[in-house]
Amino acid sequence: MTLNIAIIGAGPAGYYTAEAALKQWGGTARIDIIDRLPTPYGLIRAGVAPDHQSIKAVTKRYEATNLGQGVRFVGNVMVGRDVSVAELLGIYDAVVLSVGAPEDKPIGIPGDDLPGVLGSAAFVGWYNGHPDYARLDVPLSHHGAAIIGNGNVAIDCARILAKTIPELETSDIAQHAVDALRQSAIRDIHIVGRRGPHQASFTTKEAGELGHLERAHPIVRPEDLPPLDADAALEPGHRKMVTHLRSFAGTERGDKPVTINFEFFRRPVAVEGNGRAERLIVETTRLENGAAVGTGELHAIPCGLIIACIGYRTSALPGVAFDDRLGRFPGDEQGRIMPGLYASGWARRGPSGTIGTNRPDGFSVVEAMVADGLVTKGGDAPAALDALLAGRGARATGFGDWQRLDAAEIARARPGAPREKLVSVAEMLGLIG
Ligand SMILES: Cc1cc2nc3c(=O)[nH]c(=O)nc-3n(C[C@H](O)[C@H](O)[C@H](O)COP(=O)(O)OP(=O)(O)OC[C@H]3O[C@@H](n4cnc5c(N)ncnc54)[C@H](O)[C@@H]3O)c2cc1C
Repeated sequence: MTLNIAIIGAGPAGYYTAEAALKQWGGTARIDIIDRLPTPYGLIRAGVAPDHQSIKAVTKRYEATNLGQGVRFVGNVMVGRDVSVAELLGIYDAVVLSVGAPEDKPIGIPGDDLPGVLGSAAFVGWYNGHPDYARLDVPLSHHGAAIIGNGNVAIDCARILAKTIPELETSDIAQHAVDALRQSAIRDIHIVGRRGPHQASFTTKEAGELGHLERAHPIVRPEDLPPLDADAALEPGHRKMVTHLRSFAGTERGDKPVTINFEFFRRPVAVEGNGRAERLIVETTRLENGAAVGTGELHAIPCGLIIACIGYRTSALPGVAFDDRLGRFPGDEQGRIMPGLYASGWARRGPSGTIGTNRPDGFSVVEAMVADGLVTKGGDAPAALDALLAGRGARATGFGDWQRLDAAEIARARPGAPREKLVSVAEMLGLIG
């Protein structure tokens, strides 16, 4: 008898889970991949930097999965709003939560609620054309911007603020972001991290790229660098990244008008300003047993835009247990929340790793289903879902609809750009007809 599986979230984790289920059960399973947007691929579309197109090629693999026998994409259906997890558990034999971690973690310092302070989910969503953030107010009229965090997302944000319009225009950055960045007054970008270059979690490619920007010059304070021979203890890839950071110390700025300043050993303590962010107050730190300890020495970084790239939380879903401290669903290593209900990807592990890190997650969820002796309740779950949604007036979209949106986006691209994204769900639905 056919197994019916619902996967909530059409990001990498959702597709790798579907791929694993197809491998396990072939065409004998019916798999619905449900997403709140009419567009699939999660953060590959809305997170991965628009000027890093080659990374997005992995969507071809997800497309093949979606075109596999028994697999459907059910777009524009938000679980928790249009249908509940309890209802899905009543219809399907297994439900997998692959909803990612879309909420910004709060900075948690005085003044972090001032206008001008954004989380990276919002800022990245804005330049990538996520419908939730297309109308975000991004203040670009001050000469300074502070980016909090020492991971690749911080570098992505800095690079987008630092690039010239011609450098951006051949990417799939949303047109509203190009128009706003064209007017940007930002000249001093500060990347703030509590610890030092050895502790930063940038990758080699992302750090190295900052040395090749047309109008921006990266700066590392020489005194923040550990002694050269200490690099020998680093893992080779990380050592290469630190070598890039070393190359940013004591170099000539030339005539480049924009600086990207690495503010290592600085802990944000407050945002100040008159009705909106005007400066980030940071405290100098030193390392004690690997931890950053404040020294009491304060500095002000003048800035009208502050972007926190300090991690994400999963959104809780009604009726599903949630670990509020960890900001994700509780569950075992295999992704089991309880027999019949599973989680994969960022919704299970939290926001870490690369796209590929989500693949083993999908496979271990399917292994857990097998170990749990999943049996079918019988019935045609996709038809039951369709009937339930139709009864509520919810308008679900399919993979064919996405293919039409995809073609429309490609057709309206700027010269040299891969696509011009549709940034409103209403516009997408209008185009689908
Ligand atoms: C800014 C940024 C840049 C990144 N760049 C890279 C990179 O260059 N290379 C790399 O390897 N990795 C990168 N990553 C990491 C990579 O994007 C993640 O590992 C991956 O997307 C996580 O997959 P996921 O499926 O768990 O979550 P997501 O990709 O977030 O997918 C979750 C999906 O669930 C849907 N959803 C959420 N809630 C609901 C609901 N209630 N009902 C229905 N659907 C719902 C969402 O719409 C989304 O489509 C980046 C991440 C970020 C944030």
